[in-house]
Amino acid sequence: MILLYHRVTELPLDPQLLSVTPDHFGEHLEILRKSFNPISLRQLVDGLRRGRLPARAVVVTFDDGYVDNLVNAKPLLRRHDVPATVFIATGYLDGDREFWWDEVERLLLHGRTLPEVLCLNIDGHNFRWDLGQASHPIDGWLEQNRAWNVTNLGEEVGPRQRLYASLCELLRPLTDEARQSAFDAIRGWAGEPAAARSSHRALRPDEVAQLTEGSEVEAGAHTVTHPVLSALPVEAQRQEIVRSKARLEEILNVEVTSFSYPYGTYADYSAATVDAVKAAGFACACSNFSDLADRRTSHFELPRVLIRDWDGDTVTRHLRQAFDA
Ligand SMILES: [Zn+2]
Repeated sequence: MILLYHRVTELPLDPQLLSVTPDHFGEHLEILRKSFNPISLRQLVDGLRRGRLPARAVVVTFDDGYVDNLVNAKPLLRRHDVPATVFIATGYLDGDREFWWDEVERLLLHGRTLPEVLCLNIDGHNFRWDLGQASHPIDGWLEQNRAWNVTNLGEEVGPRQRLYASLCELLRPLTDEARQSAFDAIRGWAGEPAAARSSHRALRPDEVAQLTEGSEVEAGAHTVTHPVLSALPVEAQRQEIVRSKARLEEILNVEVTSFSYPYGTYADYSAATVDAVKAAGFACACSNFSDLADRRTSHFELPRVLIRDWDGDTVTRHLRQAFDA
């Protein structure tokens, strides 16, 4: 079973449910060590190839390349002697910008005043949103809305959350260039700069090197700009894949052999994407659909189980259920 994490930290807001607290992550690793068999992604692929794996083998992976993977996750991985692979979107290593989904949150989901009406042209279409009363939030807005996340889009959702959800949906399939021009407009409207919060920034190149020092953590590629690959022409996909591998190899001076598809569901990549990943010289690639890997599984569409901010008992239950099903 390959586990998919993104962040190990505590956040005031986590609308995409990407973060696991350090306490919970420590509990997860203790359980993996005690009741399962943590192995590296490399060992998994070798084991699948040879048809021989330890029982209840589990692989830890992270997507995106947040700085907390170094600061919070690595010491815990080392303490519990659990290997991991971190898939890094290399276009965020040098810039001072947040991953786009975090930036939407930063610009909208706070207790400060925003102009009432937002008009945007996205990909040739005009959109208009009216925040009404919600442009001047009440005191304590952040506290009251702290628990909200994208799995909760029912009737009672406020205008800011609705705008957040529509923007996420509209911005997701855009090219990086088109998305940046939309962000220029949204930042101007909100009166906020582009600069990344230190709590939400990506790893820097020297930190990628620190992360992979020692034997616990290996780096994998996750494209340059984190696009929906299937939405791009094949040559642009190839560039995203090849350039992210080359950048990491330049920083680390080792061969980078694993890849993960941004977003990673069947709709987010295509057969041409898989071919481009194979041609780029990777040994394996991870997707984002829930299953166990076995000898019939393609090494270029390895399933992963998304892990949420669960306590130890909950994570044990999820893992046992999956292995015993
Ligand atoms: Zn990602």
